[in-house]
Amino acid sequence: MLALPSNSPVVRLSKHAFAYQQLPGSWCQNNVGIIQLDQAGAVLLVDTVAIEARNLMLRRALETLAAVQIDVVNTHFHGDHTFGNFIFSDGNILGTELTAELIVLAGDDLVRRQPGINFGNVQVTPPTKLVSNGYSISTAWGDVQFLEFKDAHTASDLVVWLPTERVLFTGDIAWNNVTPFALMGSVTGSIEALEILQRLDAQTVVPGHGPVGGAEMLQDCLDYLRLILVYAEQGINTGANVWETAEEFERESTNVKIDNERNIANIARAFADLRGADDFDVLAELAVMEKWKNRTSLHRGLGTV
Ligand SMILES: [Zn+2]
Repeated sequence: MLALPSNSPVVRLSKHAFAYQQLPGSWCQNNVGIIQLDQAGAVLLVDTVAIEARNLMLRRALETLAAVQIDVVNTHFHGDHTFGNFIFSDGNILGTELTAELIVLAGDDLVRRQPGINFGNVQVTPPTKLVSNGYSISTAWGDVQFLEFKDAHTASDLVVWLPTERVLFTGDIAWNNVTPFALMGSVTGSIEALEILQRLDAQTVVPGHGPVGGAEMLQDCLDYLRLILVYAEQGINTGANVWETAEEFERESTNVKIDNERNIANIARAFADLRGADDFDVLAELAVMEKWKNRTSLHRGLGTV
């Protein structure tokens, strides 16, 4: 069994599963899962982190845990989860075919979209071993199972499930105390994925962002996304636009989480889901989200006068 130093950022979840948490889980503060595959030091990481310096810290933390052979699985293409691939490229990088394509397509876009963050060296590195829904790795203590969801958080999301230890690594399909983000996937698809994940009856859930917890966070994400869908439906039925619908949502919603500028992006995505729109412009909606964020901080400032 891996031994943990008392000051380690790694938390033990079960006999063979661990998480490297980055709290509170805001933009580019994602979690990494660590699965001990055997006693000889073979480890599977579920995702990497965004910044070179933090990836090197993660690598050092793994070395203190006697990890020898480190493979990585990417849950989805976003740079916060995949920019560290090159740090671990001496092992296998697993991911779906679509995720591999999207990593190449996105390149280092995230670096330009988050100018306030010093990412260090970024060498975009797609998965080298393609896997799909139903793939599993057998270990002496049980299987490591992979489930793929299409159009949930992104066009392709993998979750990792340890049925013998009832630990679930959701990637960004689930969030804990952090606003979900379905802009690049689908609100309805995210809801369907979360409903399926609930049926696994996980004991421990490692979300993409936010603290490790139990299955109640899946319900919390479902409640949020269903409410987004209700408001989007109402908006469409009453002729309100996305901006007006987001204003109404924020006036009436009581469950406020961090990074809630994502509300307007999620409502825009829900409008598109409900309308079956195939001309959805993600980049334009990201710009609207920035505008929304600036507007709400201005509004807060005026409120204190
Ligand atoms: Zn993501």
